[in-house]
Amino acid sequence: MLKREEWYDLATRLDWDFSYVSEEEVFPPDIAGKTSIPREIWVKEYDAPYKVTYREYVKNQRDKDMRVLAVKDAAQRGNLFERLDRALKSNWLFHYGGVPLAEYQAGVAEARMARFRRAGEWRNLATFGCMDEIRHAQLQLLVPHSYVKRDPRYAWAHKTMFTEEWGSIALRRFFDDQFVSTDAIETSIQLTFLFETAFTNLQFIAMANQSYASGDYEFGNLVQSIQTDEARHAQIGVGVAPIMVKHGEKEKFQKMVDKMFWTTWRVFCVLVGCTMDYQIPVEERQMSFKEFMEEWIIAQFERLMYDLGYELPWYWDIFLEELNYQHHAFQIGLYCWRPTIWFDRKGPSPKEREWLNEKYPDWDEKFGPIWDVIIENINNGKIDKTLSPDLVLLCNTCNLPICFPHPGETQLHTLTYNGRKYFFCSEPCKWIFEQEPEKFAGQKTLFDRFLAGEIQPPTIEGVMKYMGFEHPEEMGDDSWNYEWARMYAKT
Ligand code: MN
Ligand code: MN
Repeated sequence: MLKREEWYDLATRLDWDFSYVSEEEVFPPDIAGKTSIPREIWVKEYDAPYKVTYREYVKNQRDKDMRVLAVKDAAQRGNLFERLDRALKSNWLFHYGGVPLAEYQAGVAEARMARFRRAGEWRNLATFGCMDEIRHAQLQLLVPHSYVKRDPRYAWAHKTMFTEEWGSIALRRFFDDQFVSTDAIETSIQLTFLFETAFTNLQFIAMANQSYASGDYEFGNLVQSIQTDEARHAQIGVGVAPIMVKHGEKEKFQKMVDKMFWTTWRVFCVLVGCTMDYQIPVEERQMSFKEFMEEWIIAQFERLMYDLGYELPWYWDIFLEELNYQHHAFQIGLYCWRPTIWFDRKGPSPKEREWLNEKYPDWDEKFGPIWDVIIENINNGKIDKTLSPDLVLLCNTCNLPICFPHPGETQLHTLTYNGRKYFFCSEPCKWIFEQEPEKFAGQKTLFDRFLAGEIQPPTIEGVMKYMGFEHPEEMGDDSWNYEWARMYAKT
């Protein structure tokens, strides 16, 4: 028997020349990636830091699955669901509705790299990546399935991506641009280098830590298990980036990173920002969203870019300023449109408000007055006044609500393309659209569809039905049943 290091390179870097067909026929540029870098360079220089053999992979994955299933059984026998805070569980609903089928699509993206990239090690890592993502999809469908009998909204793990719910449209747009409608090189940078290395890998570590701290070991164990896969297959892009930077495709690389960092930031504000700063029990919060972004995401991303000799995105100052505001604005938006989402939201209790002011010194000045109106309406029994009666303008790039992070200051950005007017939440979202208008111009947000008469009848009831909400028990609600607001009346 040969030792691992004696056969590893030979097995994993296997490549050969074609004699009966052309290179282009085997690796069509539209799907393999248009690149001016010759194949010899990709083959010779591609080197991922993470080494794993198939035998090791299978054994590790089997062990990991066994642990997830064992913890799941123990948690459900111990009635964990009944014991946890409802605001905390609304994060599960959000996560399971948005993530499992996107994981499955990431598996398709990995498969594209596994077949179409011109370096053996890249193809091998992507083969493992593809199996990882199928596993993530399956586990994150399995766990919520056990909760459907307690709350029908857990069925949204399967349902969301097949609806025209506005958040689902936004998520699909994001994933399509990132790794579904892309070639194998774009996938490696946008999905593995940017989204996974810079964002989700770290987010999953933080999410696991936070879950354990909240006594939620089932969810913590699940995301930790997934994170260990991400840490491996995210290395695919780490092998690609230096080759592009070194061999004349730095500008192309920079553009992809600039686009994807911003749109990921937008999704993160909603998915992670609102969750960390509003939905986790305040005494269990380990850090604020801003601290998490600064200490985990930004510090690592800046170092990664610096090591590659790459510049930070042009909008860096805008981004740093938004860290203080954007997700607070989104939380108000989600709260006031809660029947149009499949998970619950709540406002800050007096104790949480103190915490928010400590973490974000001008929180009370900016957002306090808006919450005060909501609180007053709740305490006067006017719940209907806490719901927005109108449709909201959605950004034509990120598809998320155009919320003004500084209340009262309009920052709407617009442009006209082929006779149609487009709206954007921010300068970077407008810039992204301008880079590839032909790619984005035909995409319609829920708001665009309503204006175009595609939603019938054109009433709130018609819109709710169009989005897939037929029963009130499927809609988002106040996760504390307004108790957070009543606390103000008592003090
Ligand atoms: Mn995954
Ligand atoms: Mn992944």
